[in-house]
Amino acid sequence: MKIYDVIIIGAGPSAIVAGATAKKQNPEKSMLMVKEEEKGLVPCGIPYVFYRLGNLDKNVMGPKPFTDLGGDVIVDPVENINLSAKTLTVKSGISYGYDRLIFATGSTPVVPSFIPGYDLEGVEYVKKSYNYIKALKKKTDRAKHIVIVGGGFIGAELAEQLAMYPDKSITIIESEAYCFNKAFSGELSKIATEKLKGTKTNVLTSTLAKEVVGDNGKVTGVLLNTGETIKADLVIMAIGYTPNTELARKAGLELNSENAIKVDNFQRTNIKDVCAIGDCSETLGFITGRLDHIMLASTATA
Ligand SMILES: Cc1cc2nc3c(=O)[nH]c(=O)nc-3n(C[C@H](O)[C@H](O)[C@H](O)COP(=O)(O)OP(=O)(O)OC[C@H]3O[C@@H](n4cnc5c(N)ncnc54)[C@H](O)[C@@H]3O)c2cc1C
Repeated sequence: MKIYDVIIIGAGPSAIVAGATAKKQNPEKSMLMVKEEEKGLVPCGIPYVFYRLGNLDKNVMGPKPFTDLGGDVIVDPVENINLSAKTLTVKSGISYGYDRLIFATGSTPVVPSFIPGYDLEGVEYVKKSYNYIKALKKKTDRAKHIVIVGGGFIGAELAEQLAMYPDKSITIIESEAYCFNKAFSGELSKIATEKLKGTKTNVLTSTLAKEVVGDNGKVTGVLLNTGETIKADLVIMAIGYTPNTELARKAGLELNSENAIKVDNFQRTNIKDVCAIGDCSETLGFITGRLDHIMLASTATA
């Protein structure tokens, strides 16, 4: 079994920056980054793939800063970790040993199982996966009536891009009085929401998606709490992200109430020699100095 000084699980922004930084400072140490997919995406650019960039390959990102410094990379997701033996096993069955382990497994979209019809064909998400977004782009290209549930940055950026197509109707449903309300003050959210309305997007605020309705298992619309049904051949759920920590939980790492991996202010977990960074973990607030859970690329790479 090959034993590395450091193994990083994940290849998103936090993994790439941590890997390149660690390798630069410790060139003599052997390091492995374990990925799920061959190609990675710049997450912040994903909404722009749907119109402005057009081509998904204009928005790819990879671990080159890490491999240029001599780091190894494999595309073979981690399936099991034995923290006491300091080993992990990837999907193909190969096991690796490590001295230090870094969890950088990121986050995944919240699946609203509380909304009836959430599992109909034609209900999609904005996943940070090259293969998934490639397939979603084909679906948005075909769709004529798209409903986006959630008026945060991701839903709003996506709506603004899709609204550029003259032949598509785009509706965004936001439960609060204004979009962007989690990031901005009321005053600024109001201004930004007005701007979004200027993009041909049908912006419905103070409105709840009560049910996703369909026919023969396929989406046909979204029923609102007002009783109105908005026609849809594609529904995109953009109601938030949750830490991707099932692997960590299974291995025995301590999670907080939001399922983020608990860390100290050096990103060390409750298990010796195991760290966690980025969206899957707690982070130290720059301003508050408090352990927090902020899911942004800027904090993930800090
Ligand atoms: C559409 C969109 C737009 C965004 N825009 C912005 C923005 O403008 N500004 C900003 O600051 N932030 C933005 N964000 C948030 C930002 O993308 C995240 O904070 C950032 O991606 C977190 O990086 P990460 O490395 O922690 O996790 P992720 O990017 O989620 O990466 C996790 C990695 O772990 C891998 N992985 C998971 N499980 C395994 C396993 N078992 N084995 C191997 N690999 C595994 C995944 O394949 C992935 O490569 C946006 C997010 C989205 C979805």
